[in-house]
This record gives sequence, structure tokens and C-alpha cells, in this order.
Amino acid sequence: MALIVQKYGGTSVGNVERIQGVAQKVKGFREQGHDVIVVVSAMSGETNRLIGMANEISQRPVPREMDVLVSTGEQVTIALLAMALTERGCAAKSYTGGQVRIHTDSAHTKARIQAVDDENMHADLKAGRVVIVAGFQGMDDNNNITTLGRGGSDTTAVALAAALKADECQIYTDVDGVYTTDPRVVEAARRLSKITFEEMLEMASLGSKILQIRSVEFAGKYNVPLRVLSTFEDGPGTLITTEELDSMEQPVISGIAFNRDEAKLTLLGVPDVPGVAAKILAPIGAKNIEVDMIVQNVGADQTTDFTFTVHRNDVESAHEVLEGVATDLGARDVRKDSKICKVSVVGVGMRSHAGVASQMFETLAAEGINIQMISTSEIKISVVVDEKYLELAVRALHQAFDLAAEDAN
Ligand code: ASP
Ligand code: MG
Repeated sequence: MALIVQKYGGTSVGNVERIQGVAQKVKGFREQGHDVIVVVSAMSGETNRLIGMANEISQRPVPREMDVLVSTGEQVTIALLAMALTERGCAAKSYTGGQVRIHTDSAHTKARIQAVDDENMHADLKAGRVVIVAGFQGMDDNNNITTLGRGGSDTTAVALAAALKADECQIYTDVDGVYTTDPRVVEAARRLSKITFEEMLEMASLGSKILQIRSVEFAGKYNVPLRVLSTFEDGPGTLITTEELDSMEQPVISGIAFNRDEAKLTLLGVPDVPGVAAKILAPIGAKNIEVDMIVQNVGADQTTDFTFTVHRNDVESAHEVLEGVATDLGARDVRKDSKICKVSVVGVGMRSHAGVASQMFETLAAEGINIQMISTSEIKISVVVDEKYLELAVRALHQAFDLAAEDAN
């Protein structure tokens, strides 16, 4: 008998029939003798619908009221699921985030969990009840409702699993696990039976949308065994763990991530003197624009070209800032390009293998794909290429690193 935290995403509870399906599934786990805590998202599309209404009323809705509004989506699903379980003779009780005292800071719409009170949950489990908790929400010091950022139900589930020292945190979704890459791009993409937290964190930061980034950080920090599985099909899913395979079995690359959401900006002919990078990026930061990759190199004429990427939504305001900076610094020109994408190979196996970068670059070269920017970390190599080569690049790399081959375990 185990203590399991299960999280069901928006599609899994997308209508009444699916909520009944989830109830049936949860009941099955109870019958096997497990203690179950269920975290649910709002029905799919509901959070967007609520945000849409707010935006019709105000261009800048008060963040506190935004949280009061969007937290209602999850309140609907917890109640319906509790009813569906009760209807099946399975005792259950629902709680909002505030009721279960998921204590957060006061950063509305992107609050962070600070503490979880597990007293109620333990009492319910002891009494044989399934505990159902609204994902994505908590309460601050002053009893204000807060939310944890889009996709935050994953983080709720992991936080509860950490607080309760659950045996496993299971994230049920509409895919049956984490894949070597997006199967819509590469048909031969394969489900991974295991992936490390570090790799999953890179994949999530690089554009894989399976788990909220913060939930992976949290699970890694508290060592919560996390599993991604399908609500609709039985199967083992993908286990996210701290454990690495031994180096014989560890593949060099575990997955390929990509991202079409970035744009590139370049300042041409900036004087090569101390303080220039700070002068360029400080006003970008002041506008709350996040910078991802940065490339700078000194030319023979004592000037440098300074290139960086930002989210595509920010490209116009970043460009505006740069026009001002360019005049101040006496730069030659400012360029912007939104027709780019970032393709990354990720794998802890890279640490013990030389030559991954050259294999990646040779593969792209063989397809005639020009690399515009490169950045690396210990377990990842990212390149920026022309957007039109995205599919080709991902397919070629998937093949070059032999990712379709069977899992080692
Ligand atoms: N309902 C919230 C969202 O759509 C939280 C979640 O689904 O995890 O972002
Ligand atoms: Mg989600």
C-alpha cells in the first residue's frame, strides 16, 4: 500500500464524462489499497475563458481580482470529482488551496508556495477518504487567494507529494509520457522510460510543455519521484528521477527540444569598450524583457556585433529600446529577426562523451542548415537556425543520435 498524489490536467477533466472516468480510475487505486490525494486542473479551456472575460473588462486587471477569478476553474472540478467519487461509493472530500492551507507569498498570478499544512489531509486519509485538492492556487498571509502561474497545478501536486512524503507523484495528462522529441515532428520519436530531473528541467525550459518548469525544480529539490502518464491509456509512462543509468547504458542524448517563440536582435558595430554589454542589456531588463542567448565577438576594427534573443512577444519593445541605445553608443545599425527557432539536444550522457557538439554541427551542415547562434551548458547544446529548417533539423538530429532505438531499460 502506497501514498500516491495524482494530478489530472485540464483535458483529463475536460467534461462531465471525463470527470466520471477519472473517478473510476481513482476508485481503482483505492480498491488496490492505496491512499490517494488528487489534484485537479480546471476543465480544459476554462482558465483561458476566464482570462478572456477579464481582458474584455480591463486591459490591466487588478492581479488580486485576477486570482479570485481564475481560481474558480479548479473549484468547479474538485467539487464535481468529489461528487463522482461519492456516487461510486468511494468517500472523498474536496478542498480549495486556501482550505488545505497551501501557504504562498503574495505575488499574485505567480505566487510561490511557502508551506503546506498536511493536518487535514492526514486526517481524511486516515478516515479512508480520497482527498481532492484544487491545483494552481493557494493563500497568502492575509488570506488573499493567490495562483501559481499557468500550468501551476503540476506544482501543487509536487508540493503536496513533498509535504506528505508520498511514494510517488503521478501527473496524468493526454500524452503517455515524455518523448525523445515531439512525435508530431518526428514520427519515430519514442517514449522514454526514465529521464533525470536535470534533463527534464532543460527540456521544460527549452519548450517542452509537458510539465510546469517550477514543478520539476520543486520535485528535484525535494526528491519527489515524479511520473508522467496518460489518463486515457494504461502504461508505465515516464519516471523522472535523480538516478542516472550507468555510463554504459546512459545514452549520450536523451531528447531534442525546440522552440519557435524566440526572436533575435543585433546591434551592429558597437564600440569595443568596457561596459557596453551592460549598457545594452540594462534597459532591456528594466523593461522586464527576458534575454535568453547572447553572442558577442570582437571584430578587427575594434567594434563588436552584439546579438541576443528574447521572446517573440517582446521583440518590438526590445527593438525600440535598442534604437535608443544604438544612438547613445554610436552603433552602426539595429536588426531584428523573428523568423528563427532554437533547437537543443539534451542529455546527462554528454558529460562523459566528447564530440557531441561536433556531431550536432556536422549533422546540421550535412543538411545545409546554417547555425546563427550557439549556446551550451553541461548537459545541453542549443543552436539558433532559420525557422524554416526546424523540422529538418530536429529529424536529422533525432536520427544522428539514434534516438529511435530501444530504451536501455
Ligand atoms: N488551470 C490552470 C491553467 O490553465 C492551471 C493548470 O491547469 O495547471 O494554467
Ligand atoms: Mg498543464
